[in-house]
Amino acid sequence: MAEIKIDWHERAKDLRIDGRAFIDGERVDALDGSTFECFSPIDGRKLADVVNSKAADVDRAVVAARSAFKDRRWAGLSPRERKQTMIRFADLVLAHKAELALLETLDMGKPISASLSVDVNSAANSLRWFGESIDKVYDEIAPTADHTLAMITREPIGVVGAIVPWNYPILMACWKIAPALATGNSIVLKPSEKSPLTALRLGDLAIEAGIPKGVLNVVPGFGPEAGTPLAMHLDVDCIAFTGSTGVGKKIQIMAGQSNLKRAWCELGGKSPNIVFADCKDLDKAAAASIGSIFYNQGESCNAPSRLLVERSIKDEFVKKLLTHLPDYQPGDPLDANTTMGAIVDCGQMENVLKYIESGKSQGAKLRAGGERVLTETGGFYISPTVFDDVTNDMKIAAEEIFGPVLSIIAFDTEQEAIAIANDTEYGLAAAVWTQDLTRAHMVSRALRAGTVHVNSYDEDDITVPFGGYKQSGNGRDKSLHALEKYTELKTTWIRLI
Ligand code: NAD
Repeated sequence: MAEIKIDWHERAKDLRIDGRAFIDGERVDALDGSTFECFSPIDGRKLADVVNSKAADVDRAVVAARSAFKDRRWAGLSPRERKQTMIRFADLVLAHKAELALLETLDMGKPISASLSVDVNSAANSLRWFGESIDKVYDEIAPTADHTLAMITREPIGVVGAIVPWNYPILMACWKIAPALATGNSIVLKPSEKSPLTALRLGDLAIEAGIPKGVLNVVPGFGPEAGTPLAMHLDVDCIAFTGSTGVGKKIQIMAGQSNLKRAWCELGGKSPNIVFADCKDLDKAAAASIGSIFYNQGESCNAPSRLLVERSIKDEFVKKLLTHLPDYQPGDPLDANTTMGAIVDCGQMENVLKYIESGKSQGAKLRAGGERVLTETGGFYISPTVFDDVTNDMKIAAEEIFGPVLSIIAFDTEQEAIAIANDTEYGLAAAVWTQDLTRAHMVSRALRAGTVHVNSYDEDDITVPFGGYKQSGNGRDKSLHALEKYTELKTTWIRLI
């Protein structure tokens, strides 16, 4: 069958965007009527007026969520019934794939091909997988004496506040929503002010799938005005946060200062990608290194932004790297062939450009990119940037840039590579390229990171946990381990005789 080519620019013209909040099963305006303007980074054009939620709106959503939780309209269902509804929810997300992918690309700037093939699919997969899993999870009976029975059960934690970032908007939302819903909680989700549109549509689709009203609420708005009241709310039992380490630290304080709610934080990264001279396939390593740093315009928490290369092969390896750059050149995100899109907004673009200037002024050697491009579009684009001769104390190696900037650092020995890799406040991901099995295991063990890849960078599955060591966070999304975040552990002692 001939492939049907979609004109995404035409589709965008017909898109009707509803920027109202989603509370207690309905689209609503802010109580004070206020909105903020949401712009597309593709060309700077305005997409919608979005509800600017404040403390009163957040409170209204929390009241709805608490009421849904109290009357057990969702938590009281059998896991099998919740499963069926979540699978319908996943199916509806897929049925609206074109619309959701288009919204995501317009709002956040990533290529439409990525929104279609990765973001929306993975979001639906997350809902389906947690839905399908939940009726296969059993509780425990502890080994005790004959006269007693001690049951260890997991119960929903109650009202979950979820605060998510802008880089994978629908996916980050679903990584929180799916396990929290599966375990019977009610949720108030605050998407990022930079990309709130797909999260709002999730609210509509949840109701259509049969998730009772009040169980999922979405309050768009800014961090201090909407995120802080959610994190501080006395009737929220758990805050599930994904975002920067700086804000994550504040969230921990807010959780402690308010009601000591559980605070799970999935935070930033500065991941090392270590290539040893005994790597079996340098071409493959070069392609993967470039693909993983420049995917999503470098706006990925686990992007391998520090490339550590053994000095004896560095020049050869850098040459190979540069041959892959043409595969990642910024272009129109609505063109199905584009592999690198726009930076999320002007502020973020300026941050990245400042880091590029600091790399130059601290003596790193600029090998490619380093500038704003496609200015005539009115959007925010940066060419893929590669710095060589970087040292780990330079700002571009020490701080999370969250943009398309790669720093190459040379090393001489395995111990030195491990020391440089771990010399960071972060610990989200890492990779080791070697064909020496002992070295692969020993270095993986020595790396202080939540995920270590060996001879790859992009393996991924909903079945494996994702999260960080050190200041990259304290929890895990994905996999059955994520259920622990959204449940309380109860022990029930029963005296039999
Ligand atoms: P951010 O910390 O600025 O914002 C994240 C969310 O927190 C947004 O919804 C924002 O509105 C809200 N927020 C901001 N200030 C707040 C405050 N004072 N109180 C309450 N809420 C507040 O992060 P960002 O720029 O949206 O996202 C980029 C960061 O997210 C990067 O550091 C990236 O590494 C990280 N990230 C981590 C993961 C992970 O799984 N570890 C995944 C994606 C992104």
